[in-house]
Amino acid sequence: MTNAEYSRRYRASHPAEVAEQSRKYYVAHRAERIEKSRAYRAAHPAEEAEQKRRHYAAHRAEYAEQGRKFRAEHPGYARAYRAAHRAEEAEQKRAYRAAHPAEQVGYSRKYRAAHPGRASALARKWQAANPEKYMAHYTVQSAIKRGILTPQPCRVCGDVAQAHHESYERDQWLNVDWLCPKHHAARHLELRDMERLAA
Ligand SMILES: [Zn+2]
Repeated sequence: MTNAEYSRRYRASHPAEVAEQSRKYYVAHRAERIEKSRAYRAAHPAEEAEQKRRHYAAHRAEYAEQGRKFRAEHPGYARAYRAAHRAEEAEQKRAYRAAHPAEQVGYSRKYRAAHPGRASALARKWQAANPEKYMAHYTVQSAIKRGILTPQPCRVCGDVAQAHHESYERDQWLNVDWLCPKHHAARHLELRDMERLAA
């Protein structure tokens, strides 16, 4: 009888011993195995990401159910988490938008189409919280419609521009500076920093 044949027969006739042996082996080499798998994943990041993606796709329903259960058992958790990580989240969103410029085009339009009531509710909320800004925008829009004001290209770079208000005081509603979204946002950051320095 060859060694291989002997071993095969032994395993077949001693299933309990074999199972116990392999259990012991499994336990004794656990740390080694974990370390090996960790090293493999670190060395193959793309495969690791692909595996995760596949795993997630295959267990999507389970994860969604887990999430629902957790949220039901921990009301207020998401809100508290967001409040604690607000700055981080804003930075993440900013980085995502910067990395996916194409997806940003038409985003608000798509959002409004998908959430008809939601968008107008948000708009009303914003309007109520920012009455002077709302009136400044409204005044500019109606002045454009009536031909009193003509939209200009961005004063800095020449791109399609938005009407920027240095001040939302009533007598400044038609005093606008034309800036593209990028330079408009930059100007508001400058104004905010100036306000902070003055405070
Ligand atoms: Zn510009």
